[in-house]
Amino acid sequence: MERLVILGGGESGTGAALLGKKLGYNVFLSDKGKLADKYKNVLERENIPYEEGKHTEEKIFTATLVVKSPGIPDKVPMIKALRERGIEVISEIEFAGRHTDATMYCITGSNGKTTTTLLLHHILKNAGYDVGLAGNVGSSLAAQVAENKHRFYVVELSSFQLDGMFRFKCDTAILTNITPDHLDRYDYKFENYVDSKFRILNNMRPEDLFICGYDCDVVRERVGRMGVVPSVAGFTYSEDEHLQAFMRGNIVVARLEGREFCIDKKDITIQGRHNVYNAMAAILASLKAGVSDEKLREGLMTFPQVEHRLETVAVVNGVTYINDSKATNVDSAWYALDSMHAPVVWIAGGTDKGNDYSVLFDLVREKVKLLICMGVDNRKLIDAFSPICEVLDTHSLDETMAIASQRAEEGDVVLLSPCCASFDLFKNYENRGELFKEKVRELIK
Ligand code: ADP
Repeated sequence: MERLVILGGGESGTGAALLGKKLGYNVFLSDKGKLADKYKNVLERENIPYEEGKHTEEKIFTATLVVKSPGIPDKVPMIKALRERGIEVISEIEFAGRHTDATMYCITGSNGKTTTTLLLHHILKNAGYDVGLAGNVGSSLAAQVAENKHRFYVVELSSFQLDGMFRFKCDTAILTNITPDHLDRYDYKFENYVDSKFRILNNMRPEDLFICGYDCDVVRERVGRMGVVPSVAGFTYSEDEHLQAFMRGNIVVARLEGREFCIDKKDITIQGRHNVYNAMAAILASLKAGVSDEKLREGLMTFPQVEHRLETVAVVNGVTYINDSKATNVDSAWYALDSMHAPVVWIAGGTDKGNDYSVLFDLVREKVKLLICMGVDNRKLIDAFSPICEVLDTHSLDETMAIASQRAEEGDVVLLSPCCASFDLFKNYENRGELFKEKVRELIK
């Protein structure tokens, strides 16, 4: 019997274990950390052997196939050793893709993945498609494939997942944009990260569709240079009618396969230029899927706010508090500031990922009245922005909120859009966003 070893027992690992068992593999799951009870219960119920708190080499090197969590870098010694022994190491999405012929709509990019994924899923579901949500959001693709759940999937793919994908084929692929992020996992070489994102095109055929952001120089130049096999649909915020989605004044226009769909950008529930991009990508994919104009419009007009992404929490004493905790890199904070129409008290800081803040200078000069730095070590932010606006140094959320509520005046916005990862003061970006929202609600009382 073939032996499947799964490294990492989160949502994707546990899902891969379920699919492996269903396919008749001898499955073993190993996690160096502690497993959440939720996943332990599933493994125990299914009689799938596992270990936690360690990786026992004798049990792992007997594998014929390894499915690795995207959180484990390729360069760790264990993964290198497995590959040196000729043992195939793949991601959960690759594993799932080998055992289904469902239609795959896949989304990658540096920013906008989750929003675009959720929006496309919402439109297709609302239009009556049998569609599942998978990848970085929703439940594991492998677990859903094991149950043969859906005919269509909308899958959010990170570069780490793409790195473990080899034979997987998207039917429709979306690449939102590429800006520097996660360079620590790519030997600090931007090119390597770009290559990783473009893996989404692997195995695609001429009848498939590749949707991509043409306002992103990196994407546009690479697409122009390389021979892309599937048809290409580009989107732009400009009025360039040569592309498949563009603006006509305030109207978003999309054209594909002889159809034209138009919607006023004000009618789309999610706002800001970046969300126009996300909507354009989802509209083009929906046209490819054959969604009717009426259903497409309905989907765009009923999509709920996404938590932690420019989420309006409350208006207190005339001050609007916005939670954009998911803005963990410079580009996403750029779009957040770009979409603000009132003076901003900006809360930023956390774990710096090698950020270059200079692209924000113009927007900060124009819109930010006060920057409150919230992190263990704020030196880099303070040095970058002190010449441009007033900057204050804080080291806790309590301190930050006390200052923000004191200093913000009627008509202002308090924007949490940190530009940085959250791991210095918080568990993760969700935890940071939730605590921020709690503090805002306390101001109401
Ligand atoms: P991802 O899943 O790629 O991290 P999200 O949809 O979760 O993307 O959004 C992450 C952050 O980036 C949010 O704070 C949001 O304001 C910003 N953002 C969303 N879409 C875009 C886009 N198309 N371009 C740039 N920034 C974006």
